[in-house]
Amino acid sequence: TSQDEIGQLRKDLEQMRIHLKEIVNKGIQSEDNTREIMSSISHDLKTPITAIKGYTEGILDGVADTPDKQKKYLQTIYAKANDMTYLIDELSVYSKVEQNSLPYNFISVNLENYFTDCIDEFSLDLESQNFHLDYINDTDKNTQIIADPEQLKRVINNLISNAVKYSKKENGHITIHIKDVPVQNSKQPLYRQINEDGTDKFPTIRPEYIQIQIEDNGLGIAKKDLPHIFDRFFRADTSRNSSKRGSGLGLAIVKMIISDHGGKVWVDSTEGIGSCFYFTLRKDTKNNGGAYEQDIDH
Ligand code: ADP
Repeated sequence: TSQDEIGQLRKDLEQMRIHLKEIVNKGIQSEDNTREIMSSISHDLKTPITAIKGYTEGILDGVADTPDKQKKYLQTIYAKANDMTYLIDELSVYSKVEQNSLPYNFISVNLENYFTDCIDEFSLDLESQNFHLDYINDTDKNTQIIADPEQLKRVINNLISNAVKYSKKENGHITIHIKDVPVQNSKQPLYRQINEDGTDKFPTIRPEYIQIQIEDNGLGIAKKDLPHIFDRFFRADTSRNSSKRGSGLGLAIVKMIISDHGGKVWVDSTEGIGSCFYFTLRKDTKNNGGAYEQDIDH
């Protein structure tokens, strides 16, 4: 009912106010380019606020004079408040990660189980949007990684929701592909050499990292934008000018979380064809048998 919606809206706005205060107090003041960030935030917040004010006036002035119209106005207000909550949530996470105050809880996680659980969670939502998801895991099923499951979920969530958000209307397709990072051992001879005790003189190096690839067949990213997409508040013109909701913080958060995990993230994309985001994560070598050399270049 409209009463419930107003109640929810009020709660959302209150939560937003608290978040905003927290961010302004803690995060933004310590930034170097405060002005640029503040102007970007105020622009993104002003847009939904203007709409909320307009629709509220419509109800107060009696322009929305039927219950149907009033309901529509309230739904719009609710949607706009949600946009703001989304932005504020991302700002809050961003400022926490940047100040190293996001409480990480690193544990040993079974890669295969973790991803199948994640995919189960997303698949219903993707199906309802007519998205096809393929999952390929080429690593050993016993592979353990070191990760904070909750924060890693945020990374996967951001990348998948971007793949959906920046997609063409039809035949949306996402492929998640997990591999071992190939290891080059410059000392490896072309033939096997055996020690006196029968062990390998140059045992095969076990890769220390795994690589996760999330590929879409969506809008792709213009060449000129590629170097910037992990920058905070960066949004390509195509997304700024569209109705696609966003803060330009998602990928900046992804980058920081992956780097806090000791991994790397990068992207490959062709405009009009699609994008592929890659990231690496450290294996839990204690549980994987261990890599015997540390000079692994990945
Ligand atoms: P947001 O989605 O909130 O705008 P992000 O930091 O997640 O912010 O992404 C930054 C920009 O990178 C997006 O605005 C969009 O232009 C581009 N982008 C991100 N992911 C994709 C994707 N899978 N396909 C095409 N463009 C993308």
